[in-house]
Amino acid sequence: MFCKYCGKPLDEGSVFCKYCGKQLTENAAAPAPPPMPNADIYTPVTDAPPRPYAIPKRTWQYVALASSLAALMGAIIFGLSQFNVF
Ligand SMILES: [Zn+2]
Repeated sequence: MFCKYCGKPLDEGSVFCKYCGKQLTENAAAPAPPPMPNADIYTPVTDAPPRPYAIPKRTWQYVALASSLAALMGAIIFGLSQFNVF
């Protein structure tokens, strides 16, 4: 048999692909692998609006970047104000 996800040759009766880890059968008796912690975060949203509690990681990167820029601008303005005193 071959994995229907990655196409690699597998032993007959394999429940999970040993190459890509996908479940190949619907056999409920087989122990399920631990779910991927980020499996549901990057699933594309087709028709539903973005979940309010699932803020994309990129948004936090922008927030961190904006905070860093604000701190940098504050430091620059503070430094210039020190020179302008004279
Ligand atoms: Zn596979």
